[in-house]
Amino acid sequence: MKRDSFKYLRLILISTLCFISFTSKAGNFVVVIDPGHGGKDPGARGTSALEKTINLAVSLKLGELIESNHRDVKVVYTRKTDRFIELDERANIANRNKADLFISIHTNALKNKTVSGTETYTLGLGAGRTDENLEIAMRENSAILLEDNYEQKYEGFNPNSSESYIIFEFMQNKFMEQSIEFASHIQKGFARKNRTNRGVRQAGFLVLRKTTMPSVLVELGYISNRSEEQYLRSNSGQSELAHAIYTAFDKHKREHDRKAGSAQTTNRSDAPDTARSNFARSNGQTSSRNNTSTSVAQSSRTSKTRASKAKTYKVQILTSNRKLPKGSSRLKGYSNVDYYVEKNIYKYTYGSTESYNEILKLWRKVRKDFKDAFIITFDAD
Ligand SMILES: [Zn+2]
Repeated sequence: MKRDSFKYLRLILISTLCFISFTSKAGNFVVVIDPGHGGKDPGARGTSALEKTINLAVSLKLGELIESNHRDVKVVYTRKTDRFIELDERANIANRNKADLFISIHTNALKNKTVSGTETYTLGLGAGRTDENLEIAMRENSAILLEDNYEQKYEGFNPNSSESYIIFEFMQNKFMEQSIEFASHIQKGFARKNRTNRGVRQAGFLVLRKTTMPSVLVELGYISNRSEEQYLRSNSGQSELAHAIYTAFDKHKREHDRKAGSAQTTNRSDAPDTARSNFARSNGQTSSRNNTSTSVAQSSRTSKTRASKAKTYKVQILTSNRKLPKGSSRLKGYSNVDYYVEKNIYKYTYGSTESYNEILKLWRKVRKDFKDAFIITFDAD
């Protein structure tokens, strides 16, 4: 009798505990926070601070804010200590945990030490591609040079060759819109903290190429700028930056809940996939972007199906800070050269076609005369 009542009591206790843990269960929404670099890879260096240390400090503060304000969110870190993790493994951690959001945290550096401010990147190479974005992606991606077997693992990707980056033009991911929206929340958050807002950008970051959820890479500021370095390494600066990202997270999460509640669009069995996860070398790339956009729209239940806009490809051959006269020797005898102006820079292009194969052929030819030439995409309208 005594024993039975004890059993009964234990049963009540267990079921109560189960109920409590069920109602406050973290994990309805999973966010992966990825502090860039670590261990043998310090990332960018300032005069005294190291990127990896700043990234980790801000990441941990961000995670704490999320955990204490959103009980239903599970926070997963790719690292919580100073250790080296391969780029692909960071994406794998997010995919294995079926994350709903991936935030990679980095600190920036450029040779030009006067530059300061924040940027948030999504994967891609839009028409707004700049040499600066490329320089930043190259620096971040060269972390793979510290990995064993990186040539094999990244299928011949050379982080320091601009040619390797053309493939990102074709790596449309069905979460791109959501990623860009989240990125703009983050940039607004930074602006509210009076950080210089250098905008939402796109570049070819390897760490984002395999993630199967909305993903961004945040550049907190420039360690190469003396006064920004002081801010980045200060506890108050790190708290402020973490808070700015947190407010963006909070907004994103509320929107996510609203959409999930009203439209029942959250369906974990609708296995997300990157539209172009195959990391073919640009030479072997044959499919056209139009096909990709269509399949992306069709496979996405949450984004509205829309007619795919035709894109025009051109080969950008050179830039100049003034308009070149007709027959300029810099054009190397090429006629029918076109140009567009961006931030007072004249950007000269050659050829125009909607076919990727054609532009690839043209690009190979043109590169013999202009070794830095690359393919650029324009919206048709
Ligand atoms: Zn970095």
